[in-house]
Amino acid sequence: MTAPRTYSPRTADLSCDLLVVGGGVFGLWIARHAALRGLDTILIEKDRVGSGASGGLLGALIPHLPERWDAKKKFQFEALTSLPDLVRAIEEETGLDCGYRRCGRLMPLWKESFADIAVKQTAAARQNWSTPETGFAWDIVERPPLDGWPAADAMPLGLVVDTLAARIDPRSYLAALRRSIESRVRIIESEAFEACADGVVETSGGKRIMAGRTVLSAGYETFPILGQLLGGEAASYGRPVKGQAALLAAELDDDLPLVFHDGTYVIVHDGGRVAVGSTSEQRFDAPFSTDAALDTVLDKARRLCPAIAGAPVIERWAGLRPRAVGRNPMIGALPDHPDVIVATGGFKITFGIAHKMAECVIDLATGGTPDLPESFRFAAHLKDRK
Ligand SMILES: Cc1cc2nc3c(=O)[nH]c(=O)nc-3n(C[C@H](O)[C@H](O)[C@H](O)COP(=O)(O)OP(=O)(O)OC[C@H]3O[C@@H](n4cnc5c(N)ncnc54)[C@H](O)[C@@H]3O)c2cc1C
Repeated sequence: MTAPRTYSPRTADLSCDLLVVGGGVFGLWIARHAALRGLDTILIEKDRVGSGASGGLLGALIPHLPERWDAKKKFQFEALTSLPDLVRAIEEETGLDCGYRRCGRLMPLWKESFADIAVKQTAAARQNWSTPETGFAWDIVERPPLDGWPAADAMPLGLVVDTLAARIDPRSYLAALRRSIESRVRIIESEAFEACADGVVETSGGKRIMAGRTVLSAGYETFPILGQLLGGEAASYGRPVKGQAALLAAELDDDLPLVFHDGTYVIVHDGGRVAVGSTSEQRFDAPFSTDAALDTVLDKARRLCPAIAGAPVIERWAGLRPRAVGRNPMIGALPDHPDVIVATGGFKITFGIAHKMAECVIDLATGGTPDLPESFRFAAHLKDRK
C-alpha cells in the first residue's frame, strides 16, 4: 500500500490492510482482488454474504446500447468480454458452477420507430463491438431460433439478436466467489459498520478494526454512511430502487437466449429454472416483499414466452438496488477521508462489471490510477448532488 497508516494493533481488536464493508457481488470481488494482490483483507457483512440485492434471481449480463459509444460503454464491453475467463478460473479453483452462459438476448421489434433505430444499432455494434474480430453482433432477424420464444404476436417487425448478452446464476456465483476467498480473507458476518475515524472502524458487535483502507461497498446502505461521514442527506448521494422478480420451474433448453421486452426479462437458468423480472420502483412501503406489481410482470412474461405460461412459481423475491445520484457506479476516495473509498451504485448492471470495477477499487487503494470512466468517479457524482 502507498503511504500506509501507522497504527498500534493494541488499540484495536483486529487490523488489516483493507477492510471491505458489505458482502454483495461488488464487495466479494473487491475482497478477491485485494487478496490476489497480497493485501491482508477483512470483509464485514451486517447480515449474511449475499443477503442484499446480489442474492436475487435474475442475473442478466446485458450490454448498453451499442450506439453513442463512450468510456462507460467501453468499460462495460471490456468487462462483459473478460468475465467468462474469470468465472472459469473461479469455477476451477472452487469446484462450484456459477451458472454462466453466453446465451445472447432477443428483443422483439414491435414499433416502426424501434425497427429504424435497430438498423442504426446494428451498424454501431459492428463498429464499437468490433463484430468482424469479436463475433459479437446486434442483428435483426425475422424469426427466433425457437418458434414461440418469444411469441410471434410480440414481434410483428422481427427481432434483434444481441449475441454479447449473457446470464449468470446470482446465488451460485456468490457462493463460488465466497468460496474463492474464504482461505485468504477473514469474512465476518452479522457485524455491521457503525462508524469510523482515523483508520479505526467500529462495528455493531463492538469490535474496533484498524484498517489501512476501508471500502464502503454496502449497496444502497452506503448512501447513509456517506451522509454520516461527509454530511448531508443520504438521498443526496443516492437512493434505493426496489425490484421484484420471480423464479419459475420449467424444463426448457438452457441454451435458450434470454428475452427482453419493454422492461421485462425472461431468463432460462440451468436446472429447469426460469427467472422473470423485474419491477423498478422509486417509491415503496415494503422494500422486501412482493405484491401485485410482480404479478403484472409475470403476466407480461407469460404472454411474451408462452412456453412458461403454465410454469409454477417457486420463489418470489424483492430487493433494493443501489442507484447513485449520478446514475452510474460511484467509486472514489472520500474528500477529507482519503483512507475511505466508496464503491457502490451499479444499479441494474453490477453483475456484469463488478469484477472490473473491483480491480479499479484496488488500484485506488494501493495508490494506483485506475482507468475509470469519469462518470463513475465520486467527484462526478458530487456535481449532481442537489
Ligand atoms: C429485482 C432485481 C433484479 C436485478 N437484476 C439484475 C440483473 O439482472 N443484472 C444485474 O447486473 N443487476 C441486477 N440487479 C441489480 C444488482 O442486483 C445490484 O446492482 C447488485 O447486486 C449490487 O451489488 P452490491 O454488492 O453493490 O450491493 P448488495 O448486493 O446490496 O450488497 C451490499 C451488502 O452490504 C451489506 N451491508 C449493508 N450495510 C452494511 C453495514 N453497515 N455493514 C456491513 N455490511 C452492510 C448488505 O447486507 C449487503 O449484503 C437487480 C436488482 C434487483 C433488486
